[in-house]
Amino acid sequence: MPEPESLYSQVQIKPQAAKSINAGHPWCYAGSVVTVPPELSNGGLCEVMNGGQFNGIATYSPGSDIALRVLTRKRQKIDTGFFMKCFRELKDNKESWLTDTNAYRLCYGESDGLPGLVADVYNRAVILQIHTMGMEKLKNTIVSALIPVMKPQFIYERSHTAIREREGLPAEQNGALYGQPKSDVIITENGFQFEVNVIEGQKTGFFLDQRENRAALVRYCRDKRVLNCFSYTGGFSVYAASVAAYVNSVDISKPAVEGARRNFTLNGHDAALYGFTAADTFDVLKSLTKGEYDVIILDPPSFAKKRDQLDAALKAYTTINSKALEKLPEGGILVSSSCSTQVDEPMFLKMLAQSAVNARCTVKVLESRCQPPDHPYNLAFPEGRYLKFFVLQKWNLC
Ligand code: SAH
Repeated sequence: MPEPESLYSQVQIKPQAAKSINAGHPWCYAGSVVTVPPELSNGGLCEVMNGGQFNGIATYSPGSDIALRVLTRKRQKIDTGFFMKCFRELKDNKESWLTDTNAYRLCYGESDGLPGLVADVYNRAVILQIHTMGMEKLKNTIVSALIPVMKPQFIYERSHTAIREREGLPAEQNGALYGQPKSDVIITENGFQFEVNVIEGQKTGFFLDQRENRAALVRYCRDKRVLNCFSYTGGFSVYAASVAAYVNSVDISKPAVEGARRNFTLNGHDAALYGFTAADTFDVLKSLTKGEYDVIILDPPSFAKKRDQLDAALKAYTTINSKALEKLPEGGILVSSSCSTQVDEPMFLKMLAQSAVNARCTVKVLESRCQPPDHPYNLAFPEGRYLKFFVLQKWNLC
């Protein structure tokens, strides 16, 4: 059989790296690149070769440790048709799994086979995050594929990640890519409604990854007094309020707390009966009296974005978890989460155990949860597993 003709210029990589790509890893590091053709520019598409063996088509990042990000393992054109096929499959899968929501992550970068691209759906809006020059160069193609598949009202870009600068991209890029964007989109999630500011809110507007964890929380909140720390726009709070006696939402950001208040009203609650506190969680936890709340939720922002922040992050996690356990009554519930990739599950559990020692109590783990299926991780790319979510009960050994 004649060799199929190559579609893109070819980069040669080391055999070990080719093996890892064949096992499903989406990257090839700079140290494993042997030769790069002179015509290949930053963000360009190339064929990943090991001698005569074809391993896939990737985007090239000359300024990054991650030199190649693989988009497909087949020799095919990366065009509108390619992206339409990817998006249609992701949409069909995810919409069949997530039946009680109209907001979900359509594409989670590496974990969904499209490194450098995040696409979140909020009702009829699609919000994109572009992390790499490769995806930046393919942006128009991506938009032209999203329009027929998603039939969105608008597509808006919210790109603001640290790795962009290493790719030669501006640190931040926002703007309409299709249609007339509007900032406030109402989404439905498990029967609850949320107003999401997709233009100015954090991340792409809402923390979609906690959807199932929010639902898991409800059973622990019946008739309880709940303190939701790091509440953002009240995701956990609104779920808790469907059964709780009282919920106080604490966030350092005033607009976030005001968003939480509006979300209470949107879900038929009299916001005047609940607490909305713009304050630092560290101060709030310190000033609590023991037993003031039966349930405390801790879902802080990532304390460790880089490896060298790990020690400081673990210290901060220990401080808040120790304080929360100390202030809970016997039998009280601590819901503790972390979205930091640097802190893996064993580290997080060790931190929780130390926090229990600090608070002089014993802790039962009632639930340990992870990410929902619209935020999957590839077994060959465990870096994609980042979310930890534990439901713990404070008790004392008899
Ligand atoms: N639990 C939320 C997401 C939390 S994101 C949800 O499910 O929607 C983290 C939040 O912590 C952000 O809203 C940020 O404003 C807030 N934050 C950061 N530092 C804080 C601090 N020291 N005290 C209180 N809130 C803080």
